[in-house]
Amino acid sequence: MAVPLLDLHRQYQPIIEEVHSAISKVFKHNRFIMGPEVQELEERIAGYVGAKHAIAVASGTDALLIALRALSVEPGDEVITTPFTFFATVGVISRLGAKPVFVDIDPDTFNMNPDQLEIAISEKTRAIIPIHLYGQCADMDLILRIARENNIPVVEDAAQAIGASYKGKSAGAMGDFGCFSFFPSKNLGAAGDAGMITTNDNFLDEMCRKLRVHGAKPKYYHGIVGYNSRLDTIQAAILMVKLNWLNKWHEGRRRRASIYDRLLNIDEVVTPLVAPDRYHIYHQYTVRVKDRDGLRNFLKENNIGCEIYYPLPLHMQECYNDLGYKEGSFPESEKAANEVLSLPIFPEMTDAEQEEVVDTIKKYYSK
Ligand SMILES: *Cc1c(COP(=O)(O)O)cnc(C)c1O
Repeated sequence: MAVPLLDLHRQYQPIIEEVHSAISKVFKHNRFIMGPEVQELEERIAGYVGAKHAIAVASGTDALLIALRALSVEPGDEVITTPFTFFATVGVISRLGAKPVFVDIDPDTFNMNPDQLEIAISEKTRAIIPIHLYGQCADMDLILRIARENNIPVVEDAAQAIGASYKGKSAGAMGDFGCFSFFPSKNLGAAGDAGMITTNDNFLDEMCRKLRVHGAKPKYYHGIVGYNSRLDTIQAAILMVKLNWLNKWHEGRRRRASIYDRLLNIDEVVTPLVAPDRYHIYHQYTVRVKDRDGLRNFLKENNIGCEIYYPLPLHMQECYNDLGYKEGSFPESEKAANEVLSLPIFPEMTDAEQEEVVDTIKKYYSK
C-alpha cells in the first residue's frame, strides 16, 4: 500500500464546498487586494494566537523579512539563529545586508540551544530568531530572558507552529514578533503562498502595515521604502474556512504521533521528544534513525512518503561559504541533518496506513 507524506485531497474533501463558496463571495465584491476577508482573517489570527495585532503578508518568508525590517535590521548588523531550519529564516537576514550568526541546536528538540546564545551576542546583534521547528516551541523562557538582559528583540519563526504553545502561551505571542507561513503543506495552509506577522507592539504593527504596501502611509506618500507584500483576499477567504478546523486537525496529528510513539519501539529509531510544558502540533513527525539514507530509500521503494528536513545545515550551504563556518562548527545540527527523517503524518491518515509505515520500517531493520 502506498502512503503519501501528506494528502491535501483528503484535507479538502470535507470543506471543498465551503471553500468554493468563500471564493465566490470574493468574486461578488472583487476586492482582490486587501479586501474585507484580509482584515477579518487578521483579527481571527490575532485572537487565535493571543497577540494584539496580526498583519497579513504574502508569505512566511516575507513575514520574517518585514519583521526584521521593522526592527531596523540593516547592513553591518548581526542576527542570531540556528543553522538547522528552512533556508528562509536565514535568507531574509542576508537580504537585508545583515550577517547571520549561528548557535547550535538542542539535540532533543532540534530547537535553539539557549546555553549557547549568550556567547553569540555582540555589540552588533540586532535580533534573535528562535525557530519552533516541526511544531514544537523552543525554550522561550531562557531565550527571552537572555534577549531581554541584552536588550535584543526576539522574532519567533513560528512558520511550522501555529497553535503550538509553551507554558500556555501560543507560538508567536511570546517574542516581539511571531512570523507564520500558510504554505499549502503547513498545518494551516492556503492554496498558494501566504503569511502572517503577529505583535503586541503598536509601533511595530504600524511599521509592518506600511512596509507591506511600499512603505506608504497615506497611499502614495512614502516615508520609507517598503515591499509589495499583501495577502490575496482569496487566500484569506480560504484560510478562514480552514481555521475553523485547525484545532481538530492538530488533535488528529497528535493522535497519530502518539500511535507512532507506541508502535516505533525499536532500538534503531528515536521518536520525537516533547520537552516539558509544550503543546506540540506535529507539523512534522521527525525521528532520528540508524542508517537514515538506507531506510529512506527502502521507504521510497515501498511507496511510503518521507522527507529529510533538512539535509544540509545552513552554515554548510555554498551561498554561506563566506560566513567562515566549516564542517564541525555546529556538530548537533550536522548530526541531526544526517539522522533525521520525517514520516507521513496528517489528520486524515488511517490506522492501516500508519501500520504500513511502521511495518515497513521494522522490515528494513530486521533484514
Ligand atoms: C515554511 C517556512 C518558512 C517560509 O515560509 P514561506 O511561506 O514558504 O515563505 C520559514 N521558516 C520555516 C521554519 C518554515 O518552515
